[in-house]
Amino acid sequence: MYPPVLVDPFKRSINYLRVSVTDRCDFRCVYCMSEHMTFLPKRELLTLEELDRLCSAFVHLGVRKIRITGGEPLVRRGILDFMRRFSRHLDSGLLDELTVTTNGSQLRRFATQLHQLGMRRINVSLDTLNQSKFSRVTRWGRLPQVLDGIDAALEAGLRVKINTVALKGFNEDELFNLVSWCRQMDMDITFIEVMPMGDIADEDRIGQYWSMRDLRAQLSTVYSLTDLAERTGGPARYVRVEETGQKIGFITPLSHNFCESCNRVRLTCKGELYMCLGQEDSADLRKPLRDHPSSDTPLIAAIHEAIARKPKGHDFDYSRQVVAGNVTRHMSHTGG
Ligand code: SAM
Ligand code: SF4
Repeated sequence: MYPPVLVDPFKRSINYLRVSVTDRCDFRCVYCMSEHMTFLPKRELLTLEELDRLCSAFVHLGVRKIRITGGEPLVRRGILDFMRRFSRHLDSGLLDELTVTTNGSQLRRFATQLHQLGMRRINVSLDTLNQSKFSRVTRWGRLPQVLDGIDAALEAGLRVKINTVALKGFNEDELFNLVSWCRQMDMDITFIEVMPMGDIADEDRIGQYWSMRDLRAQLSTVYSLTDLAERTGGPARYVRVEETGQKIGFITPLSHNFCESCNRVRLTCKGELYMCLGQEDSADLRKPLRDHPSSDTPLIAAIHEAIARKPKGHDFDYSRQVVAGNVTRHMSHTGG
């Protein structure tokens, strides 16, 4: 028999699951998708009932935190009902946190309900406060709609963390503006280095790369930054801005090795489990799920087998100015 918890070969406990519930999105961010994407046919997607069964299996195996992502999770039909039903694991105390990463476009509609079902914090992705730049980077997005969504989330009592992809020559000039806007709104902000994901024909990813070291150095010209010990088991490092008390995060998937404390795995909307964001290896969990509708035993065995293959680390490397270890799938498929 398998042990009731998930521990990988490097003795890392796996207690964090990120779940992409759809590969579809109402935006087409330039670093994430091409403008004309081919999405998965519906039969390939896990149904919401299958998602519930699969995520619940992870909860029973010791996963304490689940992040719902995509694609844009809030455009999947029925996703609120799914989350409402799933929040029973919060009520039972088996799950510490259910959260979401969203582009913010649907928050005006959903924020209150998210709070009511027990969600307390959400991440909203936003790269610029300039309307025309926002249209350029998201291709299809509208900034006022997202800002209104953020207002709705705050009004509903949700803590909001802004995730900003740092893009050289695009939002460099907004660094201080974004930080002080977040302070005014009482939101944390995390900057993310752009990662080599998917086949995005017309974008030069190396040109877009802006290192966190450089970004942090720019911030230090104005603010005193103190490293915080807080670790999430992921690629984020946090500092406190002494002048304001604000917290700023830096996610450096390319230039730093965070893998030794990795506690997470990712589930795609068609039931593939990726043990590492930067590796191609995955396990098909949809098959044991669909082949055995009334027994979770084969599913649990497949999860354990997958965790036993979790690699020590990833292969992203920009050091020789080539995109080595480029992973062919899109971020919207694996979930950011
Ligand atoms: N649609 C939602 C959103 O935008 O927040 C959730 C999914 S999105 C794939 C999750 C996060 O991944 C977003 O913060 C997005 O900016 C980030 N992302 C997408 N492609 C990326 C890339 N190539 N490098 C770094 N971050 C990326
Ligand atoms: Fe959609 Fe999020 Fe990807 Fe932008 S980053 S295209 S909002 S999934």
